[in-house]
Amino acid sequence: MTHRIGFVGLGNMGGPMAANLVKAGHTVTGHDLVPEARERAAGQGVRIAASAAEAVADAELVLTMLPTGRHVLEVYRELTASAVDALFVDCSTIAVEDARAARDLARTAGHRALDAPVSGGVPGAEAASLTFMVGGAAEDFAAAEPVLAAMGRKVVHCGESGTGQAAKICNNMILGVSMIAVAEAFVLGESLGLSHQALFDVASTASGQCWALTSNCPVPGPVPASPANRGYPAGFAAALMAKDLGLAADAAEAFAVPAELGRRASELFADFARGDGAGRDFSAIITTLRENTA
Ligand code: NAD
Repeated sequence: MTHRIGFVGLGNMGGPMAANLVKAGHTVTGHDLVPEARERAAGQGVRIAASAAEAVADAELVLTMLPTGRHVLEVYRELTASAVDALFVDCSTIAVEDARAARDLARTAGHRALDAPVSGGVPGAEAASLTFMVGGAAEDFAAAEPVLAAMGRKVVHCGESGTGQAAKICNNMILGVSMIAVAEAFVLGESLGLSHQALFDVASTASGQCWALTSNCPVPGPVPASPANRGYPAGFAAALMAKDLGLAADAAEAFAVPAELGRRASELFADFARGDGAGRDFSAIITTLRENTA
């Protein structure tokens, strides 16, 4: 079954996601503030509207892929007034309380709403292999699932509104902490005279095994596809990791959860992203951890 979809935010992630919806046969009308993003999406078969409001005017589903919670709430204030009885699905990574505020805006205007952040990055958006973490009512999830499946490989219903965002920040807290743990282990191994390959050969098949080690290894050599082999181009940019860990640290603070390593990882990535690390792959944090070694 195909749908009329309004898609607002056609950036690095939203552009290829909208293109995959077109490929699946949906009628996608989109908008972005940036002309290049609009032109790129138009080249992929997305109909471009003159405004976000116009993009969603007759949409059955309204998808958003925007930078932050502030952008999502701003756009929702406008779009919830223009759409008619639509299912709003926000795929951006934002705070749980912003996701619930966005849901309230949608519901008050007579719409349904889901939070559906993603994991998998730009390659996953291009290859339609994203993982969607979805929060909201079961019947709304059932309605959105086939549409999300056209952009992803796995679509998980996490629970009520906001739990998709909760899953996203908890997952990325694991990732941020584990990348620092892996990087610290390589730096310690260097000081102890242990080669990168030997540590990898042991840890990748022992209890230290994790995605940060086996897929995104922070040192060149053991994993040829990891950004470390090419000077750390992002991949998953450190600025985005800093953003996600900041959301996790804020949530930990708000709910009085100690999450000591999560908060420390948030500080380390925030420092790294303030310096020259922002646009580099997050695994490049090993370079500052190494510099701090006496
Ligand atoms: P991006 O900056 O490339 O794209 C966001 C787009 O939103 C931009 O093109 C911008 O012009 C547009 N936009 C902002 N305000 C708008 C408005 N009022 N109307 C219309 N368009 C507007 O960012 P991205 O990398 O695509 O990330 C989007 C979201 O996905 C973020 O929340 C990010 O944290 C999350 N995310 C990103 C990745 C990744 O690897 N890039 C991975 C997972 C999740």
